Amino acid sequence: ALRKLVAGNWKMNGNRAALAELDAIAMAAEANGGVDVAICPPFTLIAPAAERTPSLAIGAQDCHPAASGAHTGCISAAMLKEAGASLVIVGHSERRADNHETDMDIRAKAEAAIAAGLIAIVCVGETEAERDAGQAVSIVEGQLAGSVPPTGTGYTLVVAYEPVWAIGTGRTPSVADVAQMHAALRTKLGALLGAEGAKVRILYGGSVKPSNAAELMAVPDVDGALVGGASLKAADFVPIIEASG
Ligand code: 13P
Repeated sequence: ALRKLVAGNWKMNGNRAALAELDAIAMAAEANGGVDVAICPPFTLIAPAAERTPSLAIGAQDCHPAASGAHTGCISAAMLKEAGASLVIVGHSERRADNHETDMDIRAKAEAAIAAGLIAIVCVGETEAERDAGQAVSIVEGQLAGSVPPTGTGYTLVVAYEPVWAIGTGRTPSVADVAQMHAALRTKLGALLGAEGAKVRILYGGSVKPSNAAELMAVPDVDGALVGGASLKAADFVPIIEASG
C-alpha cells in the first residue's frame, strides 16, 4: 500500500486566530509518522501557517499556470513555494464550477506547480446527475485523462476523487462505489503514466469525518483523504489522521 496522505482543505474559511488549530494537528502528524498530513488554508494564511508549524506541510488551494506576468489577482506556484507551501490543490470542483476551469486549465496549473517544486493534488469527481445517469466512471476517467500532467510521478502528483454530491452534504458513496471508482482511476493512471501510475496516491474526498474515516481509508486504492469541513477543527481532523494510520 502507498503511504497515506490526509490533507485538509480549509476553502474560504479561517483567520489568524484559527491557526491555533494547527498546533494539535502538527502534534498528531508527528505522533502518526506513517501518515503524511497537510493543511491547505486560504492564500493569506499560508506564510503564517508555515511559520507557526514548520513541521506540518502547508498547501494552497489554487495557482495560476503562468510563472509571472499581467494576471491581476492571481498567484503563481513559485509565489506559493516562497510563502512556505509544499503542495497545491488544482481543479477542485468548486473552482471547476465557480471559475469555469477546464481540464486543460487544470493540467497547465498542475504542470506549473510541479515545475515550481510543489506537489499537485488534481481533483476529479462526478455530479449527482452524472452518477444517476450511470456515467460516473466515464466522466471521472475523462477528467483524469484531460487534467493529469503526463510527467506526473508518485512524488509530484496526487489525485483526489471528490464526488460533487458528497461535498459538504454529509453523504458519501458506498464503500463498493468508492472501491470501483478508485480501481478505475488506478487503471487509468497506469494507461496515462505507465509504471509511475501505480505510485500516484488517490485520495477520497467528500464528507469525510471521524465516524467514517476508518471505513473509507480501508478501501483498496484509497491512499488518503481530502477533508473539507472536518479539517477546520483539530478535534475533528486529528481522529481522521489517527484513523488513516
Ligand atoms: P467536505 O469534507 O466539507 O465535504 O469537503 C470536501 C472537499 O471538497 C475537500 O476538498
